[in-house]
Amino acid sequence: MTKTVRICDVTKDYGSVKAVRGASFELGEGELVALIGHNGAGKTTLMKLMLGLIRPSSGSIEVLGDNPAAGEFAGRRQLGYLPENVSFEAALTARETQAFYARLKREPVAKALDLLDAVGLGSASRRRIGTYSKGMRQRLGLAQALIGRPRVLLLDEPTTGLDPELRQTFYDVIARLASEGATVLLSSHALTELEERAGRVIIMNRGVKVADGSIEELRRLARLPTRIRLKV
Ligand code: ATP
Repeated sequence: MTKTVRICDVTKDYGSVKAVRGASFELGEGELVALIGHNGAGKTTLMKLMLGLIRPSSGSIEVLGDNPAAGEFAGRRQLGYLPENVSFEAALTARETQAFYARLKREPVAKALDLLDAVGLGSASRRRIGTYSKGMRQRLGLAQALIGRPRVLLLDEPTTGLDPELRQTFYDVIARLASEGATVLLSSHALTELEERAGRVIIMNRGVKVADGSIEELRRLARLPTRIRLKV
């Protein structure tokens, strides 16, 4: 399996706060991975490091074969990111917003607009975003992150507090993308049904990677019966 992300003994300090402490893992093409941890576990920091928005204090990061924090990082256009609490200009419609981001990323506008149907926003796409529910804004955030068919898609707590139908839409869309070869990393506070369906789960606790494996492996490790959810 071709590796798209390599995190090697990475530490990130914000002053005296140790957000990530010596984390190492690799992600491959076609992998759908859940990144689980409580508040402050270091999930967002790891994603920002992979995006090259911040640099590690020590250790190395490679994304699509390069250092993502390098100015000339060629893979940048192949990364998709849905930040936690994504926000949009309320006065615009979803179509206007999606067209704007497509032009910004120099991707075809028509394809970007098709993504609104894929996330279930087709019929609401001409409404102003100011009238949208949180779930609808999350759908739009996903559609935006999918522009340009990213090879690496990072979704920061996209489904926290969302209804089961929307969780299913998210899962269907990202599972399809992964089956086509993308790497998808999805963070969450806890393992819900959705994260349990990911092929692999990485658990972070206070900046430390404490587990990494399939849900079956983690259950065996924790010696939990199948019906009990693994709490972190
Ligand atoms: P959450 O579930 O709350 O989003 P998280 O797992 O994404 O948590 P991070 O946002 O990566 O965790 O934060 C890890 C630690 O680093 C926390 O203690 C946080 O307060 C701290 N931290 C994050 N960003 C900064 C920053 N810019 N300056 C100082 N401390 C920061």
